[in-house]
Amino acid sequence: MTTPTTLLVLGASGDLTRRLLLPGLGSLLERDPDRPLRIVGADRADLGADGFADRLGEALAEGGASDAVLARHRESDYHRLDVTDADEFARVLADVAGDANERLVLYFALPPAVTERACHALTHCDLPPDTHLAMEKPFGRDQESARALNELVARLVPDERVHRVDHFLGKSTVIDVMALRFANRMTQAVWSADHIAAIEIAYDEALALEGRAGYYDHAGALVDMIQSHLLQVMAVVAMEPPSQITGRELRDAKSAVLRATRLWGGDAATASRRGRYTAGTIGERHVPNYLDETGVDPARDTETMAQVTVEVVNQRWRGVPITLRSGKALGHTHKQIVITFEDVRHLPEGFRGADTRDRLIIGLDPDVMELRLTTNGTEDPFELEQSTFATELRRAELTAYGEVLAAILDGEAMLSVRGDAAEECWRLTDEVLAAWKAGTVPMEDYEAGSPVPGDWGPALG
Ligand code: NDP
Repeated sequence: MTTPTTLLVLGASGDLTRRLLLPGLGSLLERDPDRPLRIVGADRADLGADGFADRLGEALAEGGASDAVLARHRESDYHRLDVTDADEFARVLADVAGDANERLVLYFALPPAVTERACHALTHCDLPPDTHLAMEKPFGRDQESARALNELVARLVPDERVHRVDHFLGKSTVIDVMALRFANRMTQAVWSADHIAAIEIAYDEALALEGRAGYYDHAGALVDMIQSHLLQVMAVVAMEPPSQITGRELRDAKSAVLRATRLWGGDAATASRRGRYTAGTIGERHVPNYLDETGVDPARDTETMAQVTVEVVNQRWRGVPITLRSGKALGHTHKQIVITFEDVRHLPEGFRGADTRDRLIIGLDPDVMELRLTTNGTEDPFELEQSTFATELRRAELTAYGEVLAAILDGEAMLSVRGDAAEECWRLTDEVLAAWKAGTVPMEDYEAGSPVPGDWGPALG
C-alpha cells in the first residue's frame, strides 16, 4: 500500500518547478491517479493559495494530467516562506505535518546556496519521522563542499532518505540499459574490455544558451552535464551486475564504479578538452558568439563544450577509454551511448573492405537502439559492409522527472544519487577544472551550427 505523502515544494514559483518538476508530477498522477498525495507549495513570493493552485493546474496539465486528476489537486496549500528563517520554517512544517505514519518529502527546488542555508535552518526544526529530502543538482560546488553538504544533511535524516536528484537516472533509456545488460546472455557475455574497444557517452545538443546565462555561465558544460548526468549514465553502463534491482544494490554497484574511475592516462591535460561556440547559424536561427550573449562574463572563461576521457580501473574495464562529452549550439545532435566492439581476432582471407568493428548505439533522445554489424556486401558478397539493425525502445509513460519523483514519493532511493557517489563525481571534475584553471588545456572555438570537430570524439583503446 502506498504511504500517504505530502510533497512540500520549496521554490514553488521557480523555473524548475514550473518547467520540469510539476509537469513530471502531472505525468505521474495521470498514471497513478489514486496515489495518496498532497501537494504544498512554498516560496518567498506571495503567490497565495489560489495563485499557486492556478500554476499547479497549468503545469500538471502540461505533463498530461486529465481534468479528473486536476480536480483532485485543486485544493493545494501554499505558504509564503523564507526557507533560511528557522522559526518560519518550523511553523510551516508544523502546519503541513500529517499523522505520524505519513511521509513528508521536502523538495529543494531552490538555488544551491539557498538550499544549503535552508538545511542549516532545518537543523533547528523538528522533522516528522518519515521525512525525505529531494535535493537538486548541483549537489555542492566541488568535492569538499559536497562532503560538507553531505555531513549537514546527515544531521537531518539518514542517507537513504536523501534523494540527490539526477533526472538522467529517470530517463527511460538509462533504465532500459539495465535490462539490456542484465537480462540478455548475449550482451552479458561481451560486456568487458575483452570485447569492447571504447565507450562514448555523448549529449551534443543544438540548444544554445537560451537566456540561461545566470545559471550556465557559472556552471559550464563540464559541471552542467558531465559532473552529474554523464558520469551517472557511465556508472550504469559500467557497473557490476547487481543480484537484485534495489536501491541499495544499484547504488553500491554504481559507487564502486565511480570510485574506480580515473582520468585517462592520469592527466587532465590530455584527458580533457574544452570549447566555446562562436557566432553561427543553426537551421534558420542565427546564434551570437557565446561571449556576446546577454549575461555572459568573458572573465569567467566558461566552456560550452567539454569532453573528458576516463578509465574504470578494474578487472572488467581496465584499458577501455570511456569518453564523456556534451556541447551546446551544435549542428549535429548526438545524445547517445556508443559501445564500439573490438575487431575480430582474425578476418578470414578473402573478405575485403569495411571497418569490422561493430557498434551498439543506445539513443538517450530519441529512445532508439541500433546494432551495427558487419555483413556481406550487396553486390559482391565478399566486399563486407556494415548493416544497421534498428529498433525504437519503449515509449515511457512518465517524463524523466516523473520517473524520479515516483521513486522519491515511494521512499525508494533507487533513482537518486548517493552521497559518496556525488563526492566521487566532483573528485574527477575538480581535477579537470584545476587543469583548466592552470591553463594546461586550451579553449577551442567552434562555430555555432557546426558538427563536433572531427579531432574530438572517442579514442579507440
Ligand atoms: P529559480 O531561481 O528559477 O527558482 C528558485 C526559487 O526559489 C525562486 O522562486 C526563488 O525566489 C525562490 N527562493 C530563493 N530564495 C528563497 C528563500 N530564501 N526562501 C524561499 N524561496 C526562495 O531557480 P531554478 O528553478 O532554475 O533552479 C532551482 C534548482 O534546480 C537549482 O538547484 C538548479 O540548479 C536546479 N535545476 C534547475 C533546472 C532548470 O532548468 N531550471 C534544471 C536542473 C536543475 P526569487 O525568484 O524571489 O529569488
